[in-house]
Amino acid sequence: MNNEQNISALKTVGKVYLVGAGPGDPKLITVRGLETLQSCDAVVYDRLVSLELIAALPPQVQRYFVGKASGYHTLEQDQINELLTRLALEGLTVVRLKGGDPFVFGRGGEEALHLKRHGIPYELVPGITAGLAAGAFTGIPVTHRGKSGFLTIITAHEAANNQECQVPWEWLAQGRDGTLIGYMGVTQLPQVVSRLLAGGMDPETPAAMIERGATALQRTVKGALKDLPMLVQKARITPPALFIIGEVVSLHDELGWVQTGSLSGKKVMVTRPSSQAEELYNLLRGHGAYIMPFPTLAIQDYEDLILWDQLTPLLQQWETRPRHWLVFSSENGVQHFMIQFKKRHDLRKLSNFRIGVIGIGTLRMLRFLGFNPDLVPDPLTTAGLVRELPGYLGSGVQVIRVRGNQGDDRIELAVRAAGANVHSLQVYSTKTAVWDEGLKTHLRLEQPDIIMFTSGATLTGLVEIMGLEAARELASKSVVASIGPTTSGVIMESGIEVTVEADEHSVPGLVQSLVSFYNSKKP
Ligand code: SAH
Repeated sequence: MNNEQNISALKTVGKVYLVGAGPGDPKLITVRGLETLQSCDAVVYDRLVSLELIAALPPQVQRYFVGKASGYHTLEQDQINELLTRLALEGLTVVRLKGGDPFVFGRGGEEALHLKRHGIPYELVPGITAGLAAGAFTGIPVTHRGKSGFLTIITAHEAANNQECQVPWEWLAQGRDGTLIGYMGVTQLPQVVSRLLAGGMDPETPAAMIERGATALQRTVKGALKDLPMLVQKARITPPALFIIGEVVSLHDELGWVQTGSLSGKKVMVTRPSSQAEELYNLLRGHGAYIMPFPTLAIQDYEDLILWDQLTPLLQQWETRPRHWLVFSSENGVQHFMIQFKKRHDLRKLSNFRIGVIGIGTLRMLRFLGFNPDLVPDPLTTAGLVRELPGYLGSGVQVIRVRGNQGDDRIELAVRAAGANVHSLQVYSTKTAVWDEGLKTHLRLEQPDIIMFTSGATLTGLVEIMGLEAARELASKSVVASIGPTTSGVIMESGIEVTVEADEHSVPGLVQSLVSFYNSKKP
């Protein structure tokens, strides 16, 4: 063995988690599934996986999109198997994430066998399969006393093919008092129905086709079995969709529960960094929107070791007169500052400081952590703070301005002009995000109805990722929503029109203004 072989022999083999992502709603992954995502080195994922799960991955996680999609060459099954083996042999912890459940028409079994044969350790984490979820989300219980005593799940893919087809259609047609769920059956639906009718199934059997079940874009068509192909064609249902056939379908009228909201069916592209977007996602979801998570920025911790050391005497004292100032201008600034401060000092030492704030989100974050700022300028903007802060800066007062790498120096300049000492303490940095192939493919297939910008930097990031022309083109077909005048200014400088600007310059304010915009358009 040469040296290199020696080293590779010493490397420990990683592990592959074969995980079901659930049917499309990111919250329908299991707790175990989520745990594996939060601690893996690489994710290999398919097209039906919710992109919110991918966007939320820590930046260092390697992403491999292997879904089939037009215009993009993807891997064959044996290449996927090899990719999993290779990553595990490199010692990585790998999550193989699949839509629904890995073993319901997901080829999870083939991948597990391949891993087994190559001696790669694995764990199998089931998921909620689309058929069960789509049933629940349309108010169709898949079994029900008196209506359905058994459930059959089939692939309808081969319905037209007599030789290859493993599905016993005639036998299924005889199965009254049961429920039949068919995956991959949009194009083959006419063949499916004619085979079932030929086998003796009652043409009036209730039947439904559910498109993008358990997502905000879910659509259901329902009718007698004999009419279903015509209804599906009329509604232009496209994959992913599945059918449910059986008496249980009739319960849909009574049990359907998904409410429509002001943003129902609207596809909203959210450019905010995913680590900060949860509140926004939840608010949008609450109004029925479909979320397209396309963070254009990635936030990373940045620790200025030298400056923290220099500030130690200032931060260590139990009591100082005059009291110095801490100025926060972003939620990220507050969060990263607190983490870095707690590593070094007792939190109570902050009582020495007076706190100034810019931005409603920053104010909320401080209050959430139990701090009530001393200076809340009106307006809550840089201009407001720069006007009011100098009034408090007597001789010997020092100001620590907590910040990221972007933004301007207006605060520093104003403090200096007032004769006080200012320290620019950078606690995080913002970089342009990288979109992987899965995100790019999604954007090719899905035109957003709304694009949201929660800071000028989110727009700048988009332009950097897509290029100015492509960003303009995308925006020209969408409603462009901005959190406030500063952000709108940056958007308009790029030649993009702002359709909706938030009245209250906060995330909830932005969503509220968007809701009012759509409500006002309704007759
Ligand atoms: N392993 C997946 C199924 C993969 S096969 C699971 O357990 O759900 C792909 C087929 O699943 C699609 O053609 C469609 O029939 C069905 N499907 C997946 N997601 C769906 C959804 N959200 N709504 C309706 N059908 C879906």
